Amino acid sequence: MKDEQVLPEEQQTKSGVSRRSFLKAVTGTAAGIGISQVFNPALIQALETGLKRHPVLWIQGQGCTGCSVSLLNNVEPAIADVLLKVISLQYHPTVMAAEGATAMENLFAIAKEYKGRFSLVVEGAIPTAADGKYCIIGDYHHKEYSMVDLVKELAPMAGSVLAIGTCATYGGIPAAEGNVTGATGVMDFFKAESIKTPVVNIPGCPSHPDWIVLSILHLLEKGIPELDDDGRPTLFFGENIHDNCPRLAMYDEGEMSKTLSDPNGCRMDLGCKGPDTYADCYKRKWNGGLNWCVDNAVCIGCVQPGFPDEFSPFYEPA
Ligand code: SF4
Ligand code: SF4
Repeated sequence: MKDEQVLPEEQQTKSGVSRRSFLKAVTGTAAGIGISQVFNPALIQALETGLKRHPVLWIQGQGCTGCSVSLLNNVEPAIADVLLKVISLQYHPTVMAAEGATAMENLFAIAKEYKGRFSLVVEGAIPTAADGKYCIIGDYHHKEYSMVDLVKELAPMAGSVLAIGTCATYGGIPAAEGNVTGATGVMDFFKAESIKTPVVNIPGCPSHPDWIVLSILHLLEKGIPELDDDGRPTLFFGENIHDNCPRLAMYDEGEMSKTLSDPNGCRMDLGCKGPDTYADCYKRKWNGGLNWCVDNAVCIGCVQPGFPDEFSPFYEPA
């Protein structure tokens, strides 16, 4: 719905977390702070408060961890502020201090204690071939857990599932042509396994940190956001890139870029997939709001189902 598509600043205010609080940049996250900060009383208190609110369990399958990196690199909104004050990230395989049996114990303990109330974040595709053996997550009570096992067990217990990144949403690069691992996205996996937990798709290669954080905030405060036909929040993925591109006027005038170093001109002849892509990158921008793909390259359609195969080649000679 067009009326609900508001600018990031307004989204943050509506979500009850002001831009000012986001701007107080703190490095790291609840899980990412690590051992040196474990006994920090302020951290313990923040985590206890957050845990009552909304535990988040973040699991990773077949992916490059780029979405986690994108989230952790973010300074605006300040991710630690959000994670310490608003949600409680209780499990994250890349950055948490715990490991091995302790980590797995914690994962299942939180899932059981907060059954129906926690959010499960899935990053990476789910490899279904070879009985799930292409992605083993860990060992719990002498049982080897694959990504398939873990999603099958945890997803029905969750209140909501956020599929983060194009691998988790639509299969992405692991599901590209060949796909010997049987990689699949969360929604397709849920259909095959008859799992009914609501899914919010937040694609992107990687996802923009705002899309992740603000979707979680929406879940906290208002529940599941309005989703498009591909399961994505219309708040972030409701607008066509080409229709809103600052170079649209040049496209209309037939002024086309001949090279990527050309500061002017529409980039369609160079391979831009903006006309087939729905996301708010053009106004949200990346790298702390500094720039976006079309400034220096082309949109490669990374948020769309079918990426990358249906969007290749990414670049074309003019
Ligand atoms: S650069 Fe891409 S998104 Fe922008 S007007 Fe050209 S084709 Fe459309
Ligand atoms: S501009 Fe296109 S390729 Fe770049 S992040 Fe946005 S959707 Fe992905």
